Amino acid sequence: MYLTQGLHRAVQSTPDAVATIYGDRRRTFREHVDRVARLAGALRGLDVEPGDRVAILSLNSDRYAEYLVAVPWADLVLNPVNIRWAPPEIAYSLNDSDTRVLLVDDAFAAVVPHLREACPSLAAIIHCGDAPTPEGLLSYEQLVADNEPAEDARRSDDALAGIFYTGGTTGFPKGVMLSHTNMVTSALGTVASGELLGYGASMLHVAPMFHLADLAAWAGQVMLGGPHVMVPFFEPVAVFEAIEKHRPTDVLMVPTMVQMLVDHPRIGEFDLSAMQRILYGGSSISEGLLTRTMERFPHVRMTQAYGMTEAAPVVALLLPDDHYGKRLGSGGQAALHAEITILDVSGAAVPTGTVGEICTRGGNVMQGYWNRQEETADVLRDGWYHTGDMGYLDEDGFVFVVDRLKDMIVTGGENVYSAEVESALSKHQAVQASAVIGVPDENWGERVHAVVVLAPGTETTAEELTVFCKQHIAGYKAPRTVEFVDALPMSGAGKILKRELRTNHEGPAEARSM
Ligand code: ATP
Ligand code: MG
Repeated sequence: MYLTQGLHRAVQSTPDAVATIYGDRRRTFREHVDRVARLAGALRGLDVEPGDRVAILSLNSDRYAEYLVAVPWADLVLNPVNIRWAPPEIAYSLNDSDTRVLLVDDAFAAVVPHLREACPSLAAIIHCGDAPTPEGLLSYEQLVADNEPAEDARRSDDALAGIFYTGGTTGFPKGVMLSHTNMVTSALGTVASGELLGYGASMLHVAPMFHLADLAAWAGQVMLGGPHVMVPFFEPVAVFEAIEKHRPTDVLMVPTMVQMLVDHPRIGEFDLSAMQRILYGGSSISEGLLTRTMERFPHVRMTQAYGMTEAAPVVALLLPDDHYGKRLGSGGQAALHAEITILDVSGAAVPTGTVGEICTRGGNVMQGYWNRQEETADVLRDGWYHTGDMGYLDEDGFVFVVDRLKDMIVTGGENVYSAEVESALSKHQAVQASAVIGVPDENWGERVHAVVVLAPGTETTAEELTVFCKQHIAGYKAPRTVEFVDALPMSGAGKILKRELRTNHEGPAEARSM
């Protein structure tokens, strides 16, 4: 199978149904596919060979859905760029992947002079905005207008669909090579495992579309032939307005976005009744936030996804009916297409309930890291992908992610999983968000340190929070020190950058092994 297959079906069965909505612009499947085929024709006319990389540097829009399809249609390989990266990081990814063509929208046109200089392998730059095309760049709309529609290359199975860079949460981003099979497996397996999308659903894209979480939900919706609604970037009021106006049924968010919506002072002013399902994931979510969200949206069915770029990305799903009791702290059960096992350092499976490294296999697991054979061999071992996440399976096969291997704290010889401490803190009414890290300590090796953002209008003290945590978790896990901040440093995908918090404490904590 291949990524664009669902579109061919949609254009045959429902050519006049809406495919994309962006602001006041609506396009049917017939129009969408016609534009895609013309853009693919234009891409083929450039100085490129089949399999060359095409980078996308753009906010969300209906055009993003066109780029994502036109690139494989033209037998080229996607490289969607993280829009939060600074120019040198963008240049790094373009050079690392030896990208030939860049699609860039108005929001990023200013970066072009830097990239031109820093990326000698770029053969063409296409400007995809509504503003006039800057000199020296090709105009996207002109290319779409001037070119004849190309035939879909229909490259399937193990052919590379894209290189997707990891979030860069634990270190430098790595290019993950995903084939068409990898992406279709995760997309279809996810849709078939739960209640997401499906007949009559429309999907609102509020998370950045470069990120595989949103991109995979996009792929599922493409396979099913349903409409996409886009907002350029996440901003709570724009999201509320889009839900009220376009009435999408499904929304995908990372936990920080869920928190910003649920706690927004204007949430009561909008009609959000169209929203039937929220898919959230990408980092751990506190039970406090999850409970608040379910109270705020009692009519919404919540599904959590646990996964990673390397798994295209879904490994497990916590389905709506499992959102209760202890399971609220879980990432769910393995999705239909994935298997999960928990292994110890020697590679042996651990007993149920015991923490080890979460490993997974299935048709969704990546081909490897681009140009990184050693790192690939490190994580793809004995038929399993080793995720670098610590966790356990319960007797019903629910996976509980307790920490990343690199974030685990070893204090006085005891292992402390930061997610457990954050979950205890989240139950305190004054804690809006927290990040727990290990900082070097003379007596303990590392000590548990909490960085806390207070909820507006509340106050508390370090002592009170430590005492509070001890009511929920063992004393040695409770924070020994607490620091209050206005905001936590976030990655482009909305994840807390603990490595940045650690560098504030006498240099980074040393890398540890299990
Ligand atoms: P890098 O690999 O460059 O450090 P990253 O791991 O953050 O970045 P992604 O592939 O975007 O890049 O994120 C996958 C990781 O996110 C998982 O390995 C896991 O640690 C975390 N994660 C994803 N979903 C969940 C979830 N539902 N619960 C807890 N953690 C999650
Ligand atoms: Mg990772």
